[in-house]
Amino acid sequence: MVFMEFDVAIIGAGPAGGSAAIHCSRRGLSTIVLEEHSAIGEPVHCGECLSQYALGNTSLEIPNSVVSRKVSGIRVVFPNNASTVLEEEGFVLEKHLFEQWLAGEAEKNGAKINLSSRVSAASRVENGWKISVAGKEDVTAKTIVDASGVQSVVSRYLNLNARFESVIGFQYEMEEIPQDEFMDFYIWPKLAPNGYLWMIPKSRGRANVGLVTTDKTKAKVFTDEFLKIKGWSGKKINKSFGGLIPASGPLPNTYDERLLLVGDAAGFTSPLFEGGTHLSLKSGEFAARVLKDAFEKNDFSKQQFSAYEKLWKPEFPDYGSIVGGKKALYTYSDEELFEVARKLPAKLNDLTTAGKIKIGLSSIIAKPGMLSKKPVQVMKAFAYSKADHYGW
Ligand SMILES: Cc1cc2nc3c(=O)[nH]c(=O)nc-3n(C[C@H](O)[C@H](O)[C@H](O)COP(=O)(O)OP(=O)(O)OC[C@H]3O[C@@H](n4cnc5c(N)ncnc54)[C@H](O)[C@@H]3O)c2cc1C
Repeated sequence: MVFMEFDVAIIGAGPAGGSAAIHCSRRGLSTIVLEEHSAIGEPVHCGECLSQYALGNTSLEIPNSVVSRKVSGIRVVFPNNASTVLEEEGFVLEKHLFEQWLAGEAEKNGAKINLSSRVSAASRVENGWKISVAGKEDVTAKTIVDASGVQSVVSRYLNLNARFESVIGFQYEMEEIPQDEFMDFYIWPKLAPNGYLWMIPKSRGRANVGLVTTDKTKAKVFTDEFLKIKGWSGKKINKSFGGLIPASGPLPNTYDERLLLVGDAAGFTSPLFEGGTHLSLKSGEFAARVLKDAFEKNDFSKQQFSAYEKLWKPEFPDYGSIVGGKKALYTYSDEELFEVARKLPAKLNDLTTAGKIKIGLSSIIAKPGMLSKKPVQVMKAFAYSKADHYGW
């Protein structure tokens, strides 16, 4: 038997890795986190919103110091500026501070956090893994949690899955942006093809302004055009960021012998608005539960690790069935969006199943061309913006 230094090596210290580290170390597993950057959470690649529900759902009590401001929900804005709100309490975080807090909590439980540690290879050895870290000593561990985000490194090294589809997210953090207690999500197809734009308010008048779109070459151009339309072009930009977001749903293989994939690395993002923090936190917790059980049984087989899929599959949104509605929504012309917007209640919270069907059907009656554009599925997809469906 080769001596293994750690029970669990977690690759990446984003929300998925931080959550896995907290929950593994809480359960007494010797845990190391390998993070390629020299500072956790930087650069921030996120709109930074997280629902109150998500925190309750993952048993995390965050300190005020990681919160930028509280919000009361999401306002969905259509091209004619008609809007509907989803009232749900939540937070806009200072996400780097949040991720640093997660790592700090794991450290308090005994986890080791190694920064500036880019994992460059992972190979199986007799009773675990040998993990190569660029420019540093190898690390050995009995199991790996791959929390490396969109890079999904171990899945790539092992050829475990084909690459997922992705969309691009781009945003500015800006100053002096007019705001109230809601986050604004704009479904404006001309400026965010197959995606949406956002204004997410932060403390002291700051806001994240950005978009997701499939048009990877024009994300910045579209965002700049959006700023012009909103009259914000002259406002100060503190920083900008662009990055890929998995957008084809969970990978077929999220587990293997001695291996679990969590967060973006597993393709876990919300089927409607592509947020992934809630799913990352929850999948990290699920991974820890499965690992603890495997250690108790001393069973690290693929069969044992299949328990992970049995946890996440019934719990997480059924991406395949929702994404059809999302894709249909993004084919709507401005006029068709007006038609839907006109019929939506002022509060999305009030939308019942019967209401969704009614709106879908009456849209078809008003505009028969919409029949092929699945308005009932579109209305169903809207429900997946809610926190209890892992929307945020
Ligand atoms: C512009 C934009 C806006 C977004 N807005 C929101 C939002 O408002 N709300 C929301 O819920 N989601 C949002 N998301 C998605 C969200 O950021 C991700 O779903 C979430 O961060 C995924 O967490 P994760 O821990 O799986 O991955 P990540 O946060 O990507 O963390 C992965 C970590 O792994 C590290 N890493 C990668 N490769 C290696 C390696 N080889 N060795 C060591 N370390 C490695 C990275 O440095 C990183 O720290 C947004 C994404 C983008 C791009």
